[in-house]
Amino acid sequence: MAGGGPAGLTFARVMHRHGHPVTVLERDPGPDARPPGGTLDLHERMGQLALDKAGLLAEFQALSRPEGEAMRILDTDGTVLRDWQPRPGARAHPEIDRGQLRDLLLGALDVQWGRGVTEVEPGTPEGVLVRFADGRRETFDLVVGADGAWSRVRTAVSSATPHYTGVTLVETSLDDVDTRHPGLARLIGDGSMAVYGVNRGLVAQRNSGGHVKVYAQFRAPLDWHTNPDRHLGLNRHADLNAGPDADLDPGLDAGLDLADVEAVRSSLLALFDGWADPVLDLLRHGAAFVHRPLHVLPAPHTWTHVPGVTLLGDAAHLMPPLGVGANLAMLEGAELAESLAAASGHGDLDEAVRAFEEQMWPRAGRWAEMTMAGLERLVSPDPAEALALFDEVQPS
Ligand SMILES: Cc1cc2nc3c(=O)[nH]c(=O)nc-3n(C[C@H](O)[C@H](O)[C@H](O)COP(=O)(O)OP(=O)(O)OC[C@H]3O[C@@H](n4cnc5c(N)ncnc54)[C@H](O)[C@@H]3O)c2cc1C
Repeated sequence: MAGGGPAGLTFARVMHRHGHPVTVLERDPGPDARPPGGTLDLHERMGQLALDKAGLLAEFQALSRPEGEAMRILDTDGTVLRDWQPRPGARAHPEIDRGQLRDLLLGALDVQWGRGVTEVEPGTPEGVLVRFADGRRETFDLVVGADGAWSRVRTAVSSATPHYTGVTLVETSLDDVDTRHPGLARLIGDGSMAVYGVNRGLVAQRNSGGHVKVYAQFRAPLDWHTNPDRHLGLNRHADLNAGPDADLDPGLDAGLDLADVEAVRSSLLALFDGWADPVLDLLRHGAAFVHRPLHVLPAPHTWTHVPGVTLLGDAAHLMPPLGVGANLAMLEGAELAESLAAASGHGDLDEAVRAFEEQMWPRAGRWAEMTMAGLERLVSPDPAEALALFDEVQPS
């Protein structure tokens, strides 16, 4: 198993539950080597089902935040347009911090930290050969690639590579929001708050312990921060009927150093200029900024089955972050583990992998297309599209 994210850890945990310990080969040097990331909402029939298969549902329910399902949408002038609150006892999409989920899944699993895979070569006489960043090599009967967006295992089965969607996120965060920024805490509420404008949006999500993650999202060329000839691909006062050149905003800096917190902050404040002051406070009070251009794999992404190697999660079907990727990754991890456990001893493991792939491909393809269409509407020239999308998916 390569990769100790939601897909790999769920796979290993379900295998473990069925009496088949799996070694997880993880590139990070340790569980806390980098910040674990924001909150995840786990769906009843996806992430939560996977945790049930791992025997961890009760522990998840104790840790998760059903109140985090609350969702509020504001206009750019600060007017509240929608305010959805979860019904008492609702457990359809409770939120959990990624770090809590990781620790829950880790339990007593055998994770070998600091073991970055560089290359996988199937079909050698000894089995599937794996080369590691430290120069070591090992062979395995089956290699499951759960090594995320920039998977190294993927090249053993497919030549597909992720491409840029045209939408970039810049992430920042606030700590102790209830005591340090009570006004913002009230604005965000118990769950998430989002504001959508022309080709851009600002989303704030409450994590546990008063921590808030903020995502500025906008359409821009991939090199928006470095290319002096091509500034942010946005126009604050865009004419919706104008041609593509009208999307250029010569007022914003290029040559931006993404490590320069104050420079990124003022660039973003310029981009969201004119939005309500309390909303802009999310950027004014944000700590460091992390650049996350959104990439996706072609959808559907399928490959000719290669004995001894398969993929799960983002490695198989990287899609826009619209609340599905981790859920699918976990469900697939649990399903593959159950199929392999059922086949072990008497069945054909390769046949089980083949059947798993045929089940995964069309389902992931449908989600990839839906989330891509969703991204087009969320970060769109017409902000009413974002509101309409929420009206379609939020429970009334
Ligand atoms: C801003 C944002 C918000 C999101 N919100 C949600 C949400 O609310 N709900 C949801 O369902 N999804 C969400 N997603 C998507 C979700 O994060 C991913 O789909 C999910 O993490 C995929 O899990 P994974 O295990 O396949 O990959 P990853 O989480 O990427 O894990 C891959 C693991 O493999 C390791 N690795 C990488 N390369 C190697 C290598 N060469 N060798 C060994 N190990 C390696 C990595 O260190 C990592 O631990 C969001 C994504 C983003 C960017």
